[in-house]
Parts: sequence; C-alpha cells; structure tokens
Amino acid sequence: MPVLDRVAAIQKDIVEWRRDLHAHPELGFEENRTATFVAEQLRAFGCDEVTTGVGKTGVVAVIRGNHAVPDGRTKVIGLRADMDALPIHETTNLPYASKHEGVMHACGHDGHTAMLLGAAKCLSQDRDFAGTVVLIFQPAEEIGAGAIAMLEDRLMDRFEIEQIYGMHTLPGLPIGTIGIRAGAVMAATDSIEIRIEGRSGHPGRAHLAIDAIMVTAQLLNSLQQITSQNVNALEAANMTFQEIHGGGTHRVIAEKVELRGSLRTLSPDVHQLIKNRVREVASGVALASGARIDVKFEPDHGCVYNSPAQTAVALTAAQEIVGNNIEETPPTLLGEDFATMSQVRPGTFVFCGNGDSAALHHPSFDFNDESAAYGTSYWLSLVEKILGEDTFRVAQPSRIV
Ligand SMILES: [Zn+2]
Ligand SMILES: [Zn+2]
Repeated sequence: MPVLDRVAAIQKDIVEWRRDLHAHPELGFEENRTATFVAEQLRAFGCDEVTTGVGKTGVVAVIRGNHAVPDGRTKVIGLRADMDALPIHETTNLPYASKHEGVMHACGHDGHTAMLLGAAKCLSQDRDFAGTVVLIFQPAEEIGAGAIAMLEDRLMDRFEIEQIYGMHTLPGLPIGTIGIRAGAVMAATDSIEIRIEGRSGHPGRAHLAIDAIMVTAQLLNSLQQITSQNVNALEAANMTFQEIHGGGTHRVIAEKVELRGSLRTLSPDVHQLIKNRVREVASGVALASGARIDVKFEPDHGCVYNSPAQTAVALTAAQEIVGNNIEETPPTLLGEDFATMSQVRPGTFVFCGNGDSAALHHPSFDFNDESAAYGTSYWLSLVEKILGEDTFRVAQPSRIV
C-alpha cells in the first residue's frame, strides 16, 4: 500500500494521541505521563523492544524488519522525536488545551511524538524492510539537556545506531511542504557569563573608584563590534546579552556587574574567532579601566549538521511524499539539541510545514494535525529509502559469467 494511504488509515489515531499529549504537557525530565503513554502504545503495536528511562525520561523502541541486510548496507537507523513542553500559559482555548497550568506544548513536540508513534505503528505492522529501526522519544529538548542525557546513557552504542534523523514542525512553511538543506542548519549556542569587578566608592571621589557600570558600558560597545568588524559579513553569527545585574545603591559607585548572554554561530571557525576576540577585548577593557573582567563560555550544544549523503537520501524520501513541495530552508540561528546527536552520527534534520500558524513558543501556537500525515509518511518513506526493498533486492551481487 502506498505510504500516504497507510498513514491515512491511522490518521485518526495520530490526531487522538496528539491531542491527548497536547492536553497533558510536561516539562523537561518530568515527562512521566508522556513516557508511560508512549511506551504503552509502542508495546501495544508489538515493537520488538521498548526501553524506558533512557536519558532519565526517554523511551526507545526497536523494530526489526523481515529481511536480511545485504553486506555493506546500513543496518540500523534512529528516528528521533522530542516529548517535552514549555513553561508557557496556553491561550488557545482549544477543547484539548493544556490541563497543566503554566505548561504548554508550544513547540509542537506533541505532534513530533504522535507522528513518530504513527510511524512505529505502521512499521511494526508490515516490517517489509531489512535491518532495524530505532525510534527515539527524547526528553528535555527545550532545556538543551535531553539529547546529551540519552547519549550519556549510551543511546548510539547500546542500540547500534548508524545514522540519525530528526524532524521539526515549522510555522510559515505550507502544510504538505518539507524543508530540507545539507550542511549546518541550526546554530551552535553558547551561554556567556561575564563578571566585571571594579572598586566601589563615593560619587564625589569617583577618581578613587573603578566604576563597574562605566566599564560595562565600554565593554558592551566593544563586544558588539566583534560581529560587525571581525566576522566576515557573509558568515552567520550573533551575540546578544539578555541579563545585566549591578549596582543597587544610590550614591555608591557600583563595584560589580554581571552579564549573561548568548552566542550563536554556524561554523566552528567563526565560533572560535568570536570566543578569542571576546577574551581579547575583555582583557583590553580591563587593562584600560583597571577593573577585573572574567569571561566564561558554557557551550549548550554544537550546530545541527546535515550530512550531505544522508540529506540526499532524505530529499528523495521527502519528494516521494510531497513531490516538488520541497523548500531549501535557510539556516537559522535558533538552536536544537538534536545537534548533539548529529555530531556523533551522520543524518539529517528536516522541517515539516505547519502552515500559517502562530510562531513556535507563542502561547497561541498549535501543531496542525493536517501536517501529521506528511510528517509520518516522511518517516516511512525514509525507512523505505534506506532499508527498503530497493536496497535489499538490488544489493544482491550480480554474477558475471
Ligand atoms: Zn522549542
Ligand atoms: Zn522544538
């Protein structure tokens, strides 16, 4: 049966699961109900293995195909969805709106989970492929901690995953369109913490003090020039500061200021260049002012990197489902912790159009159930392309007599 028809037959289930998940959102590493629900479904489908507690609240299912894998062919692929919600108060007024006050599926992870469940149901029913599909239900993407937790639990080695694939819903991309691009598609992100320590004093005797607020003003101005003056304008990078804390007493010169910010880049060279320049600029400002300036970078994750070979296969899989409705999505400086997985195994991360909806992380966002048919079908088409009939039949060596 063609992929889209197979998915159409279970579309009602997918919508039902999705709305149930939407009504019961859970924050990162608290996805207990979600994980239980997912594991129960996977067991009911007849998956060969269902493992809970991978990376704290993650769930992993294994489905083996009915055919032997020819020599030299890919044996195991991982398909990843994320399950967590956000600390946002939902304003959709939908009948299936969040029942958990202040928690909401505003990033479509309810849809991601439901689509991967849909794929699991179809795959465990027909098993007309060679090799193994590992379905990964990841926790805590929003806090950038779930992928790493699963990797620390040896996700890749334990399940012998050779390639890894991910997908995210995308507002603004039409329903029935898939966004795909090779190379770096989402940013490496670092948290930046800067502490400025001057010397407190009386404003009337400012010459004896080192004003941490003035030093901060100087420092921020100089730091902003790094992306405009040191980075090639054709490269992507941005550095912003979201927090500033300092002073607090009127008529007392501030001794300390703390800044917290975010650095986002798409290439390791630019990433390193900016980090070096931030340190150089900070020590220059420190030398000029007499203040002490400490800079700390805390990497959240690297960039999501789509390997060219796997992206080419994913593109043919997507075309099978949506024809020419493919968009080469531009890279973005948003982050996604799938990055951590994409750096240890080749694979690709695609976008599934959510149509003209509210933005991700907006209190009125809702995953469009209509798009689920395309996302689920893409998963099945991908399995077919990598582990399907063409690969196990064509791969028989032809003997030349
Ligand atoms: Zn998000
Ligand atoms: Zn997300």
